[in-house]
Amino acid sequence: MHHLENLQQTDSVVHDIIAREEVRQFEKIRLIPSENYVSTAVLEATGSILTNKYSEGYAGKRYYEGQQLVDELETLAMVRACELFGADHANVQPYSGSPANLAVYFALLKPGDKVMGMALPHGGHLTHGWDVSITGQYYKSVQYGVDESTHRLDYDQIRAMARRERPQLIIAGATAYPRLIDFEAFGSIAREVGAYFLADVAHIAGLIAGGQHPSPVPYADVVSTTTHKTLRGPRGGMLMCKEALADTIDRAVFPGLQGGPHNHTTAALAVALHEAAQPAFRDYAAQVVKNGRALAEGLVSRGFKLITGGTDNHLILMDATSVGTRGRKLAKVLDRCGIVCNMNTIPFDPRKPFDPSGIRIGTPAITSRGMMEKDMEVLAGWIARAVEVIADREAQANIAAEVAEYCKAFPPPGIRIN
Ligand SMILES: *Cc1c(COP(=O)(O)O)cnc(C)c1O
Repeated sequence: MHHLENLQQTDSVVHDIIAREEVRQFEKIRLIPSENYVSTAVLEATGSILTNKYSEGYAGKRYYEGQQLVDELETLAMVRACELFGADHANVQPYSGSPANLAVYFALLKPGDKVMGMALPHGGHLTHGWDVSITGQYYKSVQYGVDESTHRLDYDQIRAMARRERPQLIIAGATAYPRLIDFEAFGSIAREVGAYFLADVAHIAGLIAGGQHPSPVPYADVVSTTTHKTLRGPRGGMLMCKEALADTIDRAVFPGLQGGPHNHTTAALAVALHEAAQPAFRDYAAQVVKNGRALAEGLVSRGFKLITGGTDNHLILMDATSVGTRGRKLAKVLDRCGIVCNMNTIPFDPRKPFDPSGIRIGTPAITSRGMMEKDMEVLAGWIARAVEVIADREAQANIAAEVAEYCKAFPPPGIRIN
């Protein structure tokens, strides 16, 4: 633990929790696909004095004085976002991915309008119209899923549904889909039925920035993203759109949905966008995908059944029932083995969401700490052993000790354990 001496003095309780979490992030293999490690530079900007500031409004149009430097900062983040993704306009104020999406609904729809998004149990996000979400309650929602036999998006089925349902907004994007998404096809479907097209790239923004996944920017009216998943920025959200929608989107974020932007987050986002524009980030994104493929192969060769048989991106959806267990159980056992993932529904899951068939695993965080294909082979071996010792706590603890020892060779960015 380092550089938190003041916190230790003022509040040893919180300091101790953070210190123990830092150790956890060091000695576990973190496979939750939405998590990552940010750089020390991003951490420093996140923890900066910009948290002291208020700046309702936009650069040059603020409701508070003292914005000289914040205007400079927010404009820099916007320019960097537009350059990195080739977008006309960027709004860097959304507090996170969910409010970013809600701002798009507020910008483009009236309550009761119809949205068409991917169903949560098939890999979509809550904010794509799922029934417990405000997006499924204040709007009419129709949901597409993956094909029953291939477990992939079927664009003919999606087009047929769009023609039948005539939604005002079509959303593409997923939290648990291991394959490329054809944003061009979605764009053409949306145009055909006169719908807006929102591409939510929360999970894959870093892969797009790093040239590993086709970009939706040419085809989507609006692109939403989180900034903290594969993009490796601070917790936050971002919207990008065509110039024609810029004012509408901006007004929906502020004053429509939010108050003051989180300026410390804006600073850290600007840093992350700068990092993502470097050649090393392309290598990172490529390695995330290579690791995904290597881990998938290692798992398949050990008898695990993967949804769609593999992956094109950073995540793998595994059917745990294929090795005689279930998602919740396997995720708990793996956690005790020092390997952290989450239980997840699989498409057409016969089990309940709180006790689903699958687990979801991803390579962004382990790639940030320098693991490569050869390490994926070792990891696949541990996962297979975990299944063999599913009822043996002592054997699980032994694996966890091996994992912790192995992790010493891969110090994550931003973390120094003394
Ligand atoms: C993570 C995610 C979000 C929501 O982001 P939060 O920052 O958790 O609100 C939205 N859409 C997709 C596709 C996501 O994966």
